[in-house]
Amino acid sequence: MYRYVTLTVIIVLTFVMTACGSSTETTAQEPAAETALIAATDEAQEMTVGSADSVIDLAFFDSAGLVQDPTVVDCTLTDGTETQCAEVVVKYLPDNLEIGPFCPDNIYEDEGGIWEWDGENPGVYRLNEAFFTMLKAQGFDFYDADGNVYIGDPAGALVADVNNCLEAVADEMVEMTVRIPLLPVMAETPIELGTVAQVGLAIDAVPIFADAPSVLDRGHLPALDLCGGHIDPGGWYHWHATTTDIDASFAFEEVDAACQLAQSGSSLFGYAFDGFPMYGSTDQDGTMPTDLDGCNGHVAATTEYPDGVYHYHAGLAFPNLPTCLVGVTANNAFATTASAGVGAGGGPGGDGGPGGGGRP
Ligand SMILES: [Zn+2]
Ligand SMILES: [Zn+2]
Repeated sequence: MYRYVTLTVIIVLTFVMTACGSSTETTAQEPAAETALIAATDEAQEMTVGSADSVIDLAFFDSAGLVQDPTVVDCTLTDGTETQCAEVVVKYLPDNLEIGPFCPDNIYEDEGGIWEWDGENPGVYRLNEAFFTMLKAQGFDFYDADGNVYIGDPAGALVADVNNCLEAVADEMVEMTVRIPLLPVMAETPIELGTVAQVGLAIDAVPIFADAPSVLDRGHLPALDLCGGHIDPGGWYHWHATTTDIDASFAFEEVDAACQLAQSGSSLFGYAFDGFPMYGSTDQDGTMPTDLDGCNGHVAATTEYPDGVYHYHAGLAFPNLPTCLVGVTANNAFATTASAGVGAGGGPGGDGGPGGGGRP
């Protein structure tokens, strides 16, 4: 294992030296976020590789969501580094997790989950009468004359010629295999996380993805539940937010919603695909850190890493996830046995259902 530590240190030193050199030459053009990130990088690596041969701790994953005990496998990272990865095989949904509500059946009778609307009057909304009538005024037709919501299956039948509130069907047979480097290797520049990009794996064994697709692009709304999750067309459940601190985000966004899961800003939520841990919006002392880099990360002590570790924090704006990763990910970081909803890259592809939407 010593070999990997040494390798990482060499890579990191190279990166830091390169970064320092370039920052003196191109100061004017360097984005502020990147500069902050480089400043954090030096310290991050010192603290993450100093003592341990692994940052990710497989003991933290909840067995209720695991198909089998996690293992360590040889893997290659996207920058060509040959190293070792944690391999975690997870269920379509943890045994102990209650999910929903997603779409309301009738806007006059019940409320569904939430959605981040990016049209006129953008913001996070509860899926209810006020939201759907607002969308109707903007030309989006999600319910009939009696208030019944057009609910479609993104992997199957949609209600024709209208906008659909999407609810995918769970597939109990689906399993996902996630690979995360034991020791993070810094990327030359941060890796941006675009729509439905792979972010990481929560310690409850639910995968985490970036923004769900916009209704403006596809015309249909893949409803999220009150903890920021939903089922992919491939049949598995996943998070689109830092669930364990999502109520703080709801308060910030002034949306009347609450996740039924325990909330804590300073608790470990999961691990990003680069191997660094992810937390809610606060540090151990309950305050929000003020030294975060462009990916919303910094080095500090946490309950799980008392000697300090680089880690990401949730922001308050929804979705409360980092927008970039500072480390490289493994090749084949995420694979699924599902036949539907998976793009060529191995990630979820059909989150928003068939395209060609917009206003009907
Ligand atoms: Zn912190
Ligand atoms: Zn999704």
